[in-house]
Amino acid sequence: MVLHGGGNTSVKVRAPDVFGKPEDLLYVKGSGWDLATIEVAGFSPCRMDRLLKLAELPRLSDLEMARELRVSLTEPSAPAPSVEAILHAMIPHKYVDHTHADAFIALSNTPRGLDYVRECYGDGVVIIPYVMPGFVLAKRCFEMMRSNSLQRVVGIALMNHGLVTFGETAKESYDRMIDLVTKAEDYIARHRVGQPLTANPQPSAAISRKAIASLRQEVSKAIGKPAILNKSVSDPDLQFARRGDIATISQQGPATPDHVIRTKRVPLIGRDVPAYCAAYREYFERNKARGVGRLTMLDCAPRVILDPELGLCTVGLTAGATMVARDIYRHTIRIIEQACAIGGWKALSEADVFDVEYWDLEQAKLRASSGSKEFSGEVALVTGAASGIGKACVQSLLDRGAAVVGLDIDPAITTLHARPDFLGLTCDLTQADAVKIALDQAAVAFGGLDILVLNAGIFPKSIGIKDLTLESWRRVMTINVDANLVLLRECYEMLALAPAGGRVAIVGSKNVRAPGPGAAAYSASKAALNQLARVAALEWADAGIRVNSVHPNMVFDTKLWTDEVMKARALSYGLTVEQYRRNNLLHVSVTSADVGELVAAICGRAFAKTTGAHVPVDGGNERVI
Ligand code: ZN
Repeated sequence: MVLHGGGNTSVKVRAPDVFGKPEDLLYVKGSGWDLATIEVAGFSPCRMDRLLKLAELPRLSDLEMARELRVSLTEPSAPAPSVEAILHAMIPHKYVDHTHADAFIALSNTPRGLDYVRECYGDGVVIIPYVMPGFVLAKRCFEMMRSNSLQRVVGIALMNHGLVTFGETAKESYDRMIDLVTKAEDYIARHRVGQPLTANPQPSAAISRKAIASLRQEVSKAIGKPAILNKSVSDPDLQFARRGDIATISQQGPATPDHVIRTKRVPLIGRDVPAYCAAYREYFERNKARGVGRLTMLDCAPRVILDPELGLCTVGLTAGATMVARDIYRHTIRIIEQACAIGGWKALSEADVFDVEYWDLEQAKLRASSGSKEFSGEVALVTGAASGIGKACVQSLLDRGAAVVGLDIDPAITTLHARPDFLGLTCDLTQADAVKIALDQAAVAFGGLDILVLNAGIFPKSIGIKDLTLESWRRVMTINVDANLVLLRECYEMLALAPAGGRVAIVGSKNVRAPGPGAAAYSASKAALNQLARVAALEWADAGIRVNSVHPNMVFDTKLWTDEVMKARALSYGLTVEQYRRNNLLHVSVTSADVGELVAAICGRAFAKTTGAHVPVDGGNERVI
């Protein structure tokens, strides 16, 4: 019923102020909080008398209202009160609920919506034709409620927008909301004509990473910066994208106007991004005179894409925004299908939607949430990501705003982070097919690849050349060299399509410059990887892909270094563990986090014009210098 910031609730309480004088307050949902996860701190305490006085003003601009709502707060650090705060204040009941329930929106977004809503609810609900949210809507509600006998009214139906209910207890208000939504659901079920349309049921074609990454590149170009693109793998989404009437039903507008800031007014059908942009510019030109003052056009790129092969794709500046757009559009699909079943889908007019898209208060919400970190909208893939240096690289990349795919043979990778911008996949990197499947999943989740971090590797037990079997030599080569060749080869296409240029960071080793006795296979494998990196830098520069390496040494907070190994190695040099840990020119201990930060840095702006570089991170080593 309440989807990503849509809807709000409030309660009226009397509490003493700092002087002990009782004061009537409205606790209303604060802007930026979501009802699914709201806490006490998310409710803004407003002084009731101030809100009621505002309601008497003949008019109040949006910006003035937003300012006045802030002024009414008793807690300066509280979030900005919901733009519907005045509406909540004017309703005399203690508890108020407001939702954008799917069934009600389906009912009201039909050519005969007003008749349906009237028939569905009878006299107990006041019906308000669509007005933009904010002061005007609050005034309209106030007038409508005054002219109705309040005793019998349990709620307000806001056409093309949502429902409001109220009560003396939270439960009474909530039960009334559930009752009104259930009535709308039952009404739809009773009036449904014919069977739901079944679309082309063919299975989707094999996933083409290149097709997805090309689409993401085009969309990013239209936005002017890299964006995340998610491809839905759900069958109903694909079926909807393949409906024969998709060009009509998907092009009418959003389910409720507040969705426009997350989804744009209409989805792109197919993959012609420049055509979508041209149409968006025309839409802006047609409507720009409606704005107060001079409006600046938002980027022209789509946020929702319906393609007969790719199905539903959604776009956002962060992985989180992409998921929000997907959730909203899935509800939109359901709402459109319900509305179609009871006589047709009819969204709000283009002009009404434009007003909300270019409304100062909605723009403020977007500005507050738009990502601006160094790797915002970019996708990184890290191998060996479940622990040690790989795990630290994941953290450094997430901290800079990238969406990260972590691969590891250890299943712990799948639960490393529970957040929308991380995807952990179990993968045996020595199996080329498993690598391809993992890359497909990365493309589906985030739309491509900008940064590849080759970190996974093994460090076998110390053994002299005279005892080294070909079998253990080959095992090291398989993991430390062959697997990285496959990864580089398979990632090339996506890296070449990276909107801001692809980057490869290779975690090498001090051993490349300064090998150690007993580590023949390891040192040779890292030297081979080093040479592979240099050739990749030569071959891929034309595609704008930078390939740089970091060379750590003595990073002890990794799985390789157990306490026993540390003690044994320190003893063999006649040092204490602490002396051994800092056994470098600078006498510093090098940590996984240090390496993670350097990896992120060589993928960042400071190294934007560098490729083929080799940077040590070892505290200074005489043999390397
Ligand atoms: Zn609303």
